[in-house]
Amino acid sequence: MKVESRNKPEKALFRKLQWLIFFRALFAAVLLGSGVFVGIHEHLTFADQPLVAVNGIALLLVCLSVLYSVILARTSHLSILGYLQISIDSLLVTGIVFVTGGFSSIFSFLYLVVIIYASMVLFRKGGMFIAFFCSIQYGVLVSLEYQGVIYPIGLASDFVLKNNNWEYVPYKLLMTIAACFCVAFLSGLLAEQERRAKQDLWAMEAQVKRVEKLAAIGEMASGLAHEIKNPLASLSGSIQFLREEIPYDPDRDRLMDIILREADRLSALVNDFLMFAKPQPGQIKLVELDVAIDEVIKVFTADNRRNRRIAVSRHLDEGVFIEIDPEHLRQVLWNLLLNADEAIEGEGGIDIKMYPLDKDYVCISIADDGCGMTEETLSLIFDPFFTVKAKGTGLGLSIVQRIITSYNGLIDVRSELGKGTTFTVKLRRIPKSSV
Ligand code: ADP
Ligand code: MG
Repeated sequence: MKVESRNKPEKALFRKLQWLIFFRALFAAVLLGSGVFVGIHEHLTFADQPLVAVNGIALLLVCLSVLYSVILARTSHLSILGYLQISIDSLLVTGIVFVTGGFSSIFSFLYLVVIIYASMVLFRKGGMFIAFFCSIQYGVLVSLEYQGVIYPIGLASDFVLKNNNWEYVPYKLLMTIAACFCVAFLSGLLAEQERRAKQDLWAMEAQVKRVEKLAAIGEMASGLAHEIKNPLASLSGSIQFLREEIPYDPDRDRLMDIILREADRLSALVNDFLMFAKPQPGQIKLVELDVAIDEVIKVFTADNRRNRRIAVSRHLDEGVFIEIDPEHLRQVLWNLLLNADEAIEGEGGIDIKMYPLDKDYVCISIADDGCGMTEETLSLIFDPFFTVKAKGTGLGLSIVQRIITSYNGLIDVRSELGKGTTFTVKLRRIPKSSV
């Protein structure tokens, strides 16, 4: 899979995994280098060095890094690769802890390092998973040592028993596990915040690009539309004048009717188009969002043209207000619902959610389990006249986009081919105190 064909979150994960592999290899190289240095300095062979097992793990890490790089270049399952690498890291940390004294090893802090970067790469879920996995490993290691089943390499069993304060076992075990989960929770929180900020930034970047493109196209098209309107008006005027001047003939009159009717149709189309290219500012009102959305859904579900085998579900929070022209809101919801409906062939579901994001913003999402889109389609859907439908106009989403940006809102879309699409609209809400 080429990097160019990935979407932004995947590209970001790819880069993070590249960095992870790089730093892991660097860490292993430094570890190995220091081993070699000590060996030369103390005139010891590789096998005689005190931390020979640690050197072995470092060597294994170097080999694994090469293997990971090869897999990373070829796989499209980045998330699985991330989980695999970090789980193996945690096993290696257990190995390091074991060979450096087990329960009394000073290296148990390495678990926390692994959990922190697990959260950075795999977010909260990944961080929590690795914290859980590390806790189990450490728990098993210490329990086995405690019961005398295993001894840290290089230390005699007597030594272990004498030198460890076993009464601290439950205490240290609990503390380490609690530390693992605390670190996972905190780093997960930060990672989620960063992810959300990045997603907003990506959506905004994409929107700015779309708006720029749309503005240029709209400007050109509205000029053209004006140029069409003027000759059309002279055409209709001239025909009407002719009709009054020449003697009545039923055949000619029918032809003139056709000319007038078609000229009218063309003029209406141009007017519609002008409305899209240069929309009029709306009449802004205070709207209670759940009520307004409910109304649109009601009309939509009662519409005869829609597919009756699609279940429409809703999850709307109450008491959220926004300032918008109700007609604009209706148009946005209608266009998105219609697209969702058209994306589902046969049975399926549309889910509409509305929830406050924070005290300033509210999100409306419309998700369908329809056909989804390819990356290429996804990059074109906001272009006016882009459509894949036989009877589509390709104006639906361009209008939605125009309206949303005119209220300083954001629209974002996520889609997976064959699985479905979710459009999310983010709008400024009116704080409760000012309603
Ligand atoms: P139209 O509906 O007339 O084609 P739109 O601007 O509404 O025009 O949509 C443009 C294109 O975006 C559609 O032709 C379709 O390919 C894609 N699209 C929009 N919404 C969805 C959806 N929910 N699922 C899949 N594809 C969609
Ligand atoms: Mg449409």
